[in-house]
Amino acid sequence: MKKRRRLSLEEYQEGVLSGSRVGLSRAITLVESTLDSDNELAAQLIDKIYDYTGKSFRIGITGVPGVGKSTFIEAFGQLVLENKKKLAVLTIDPSSQKTGGSILGDKTRMEKLSRSADAFIRPSPSGDALGGVAHKTRETMLLCEAAGYDFILIETVGVGQSETSVKNMVDFFLLLMLAGAGDELQGIKKGIMEMADAIAINKADGDNIDRAEKAKKEYQNALHLFPANENGWVPEVKTCSAVNSEGLVEIFQLLNKFQVEQKQTGYFALNRKEQAIHWMHQTIHHFLKQNFYKSPEVLKNLSKFEDEVRQGNKHSVKAARTLLNQYYK
Ligand code: GDP
Repeated sequence: MKKRRRLSLEEYQEGVLSGSRVGLSRAITLVESTLDSDNELAAQLIDKIYDYTGKSFRIGITGVPGVGKSTFIEAFGQLVLENKKKLAVLTIDPSSQKTGGSILGDKTRMEKLSRSADAFIRPSPSGDALGGVAHKTRETMLLCEAAGYDFILIETVGVGQSETSVKNMVDFFLLLMLAGAGDELQGIKKGIMEMADAIAINKADGDNIDRAEKAKKEYQNALHLFPANENGWVPEVKTCSAVNSEGLVEIFQLLNKFQVEQKQTGYFALNRKEQAIHWMHQTIHHFLKQNFYKSPEVLKNLSKFEDEVRQGNKHSVKAARTLLNQYYK
């Protein structure tokens, strides 16, 4: 295969800011790269485009596999496009890092959206042993904003591994759920429910409508038991049918209401500031960790120390402190 010529910083920047899909895709590939030289260039690129970011509405969507996330995004995405907004959909799928397979699967997802000129869909970045997938998604989000996307949907598989990271990069967090037979609160962790700005009970169609309405009441009651949000927002529960595109307008309106209210009270901007601080620390943690595990001093002894700890010849704290001392020397 012919190797593609390496783009310059200016070419990457121009590619993103021009709004071209190819330019955006290439910039995302750069951000996702694990090569040190690419990381440096990616950091410079983020720096260059930063002034053009921040204008989109950032929405997180989560729910267990099968709840209907891709069906929902496909249908909801059409509404966004009908409202003359550009939409980017990013996914974080922690399962793809471990197994190479993925819960979200290889099936063609969101077929209609992916054919639209105003939608951009990018799947989860693949394996990075040192973590940092959430980072890459956040930086990808910034690139999409600079490229002119108005709505950014960040989808995660609701299995509890990446929801906190997503909550920390979005303005609004939507939880999709199903009506179960009496076990409404068991499918998803309480912690995730607590993060939700809205819950949508999906598949409220056919003979499932009554159950969905009943579940809605139960979730509403459950949400009231959580402490009030500092920003004054009271999470709402809606029902919808993603396949029939029912209830989606109400959810779209709810999102708009949230945005208007939160901007008026100043909490929208405040939340973003808090998030920026969070990501400053996350970035520091990430680079310290990466630097540590790549350093020759550490690599020299790491597996030896692991063996010693395993055999009981050295205790874990001592092993860690010795490695850290060697690293800082
Ligand atoms: P994901 O794993 O959360 O992305 O779920 P999918 O969007 O792939 O949907 C899982 C299954 O549920 C598919 O067979 C969909 O056709 C079906 N489904 C999704 N939304 C609805 C809905 O609103 N009503 C009904 N009856 N089925 C739905």
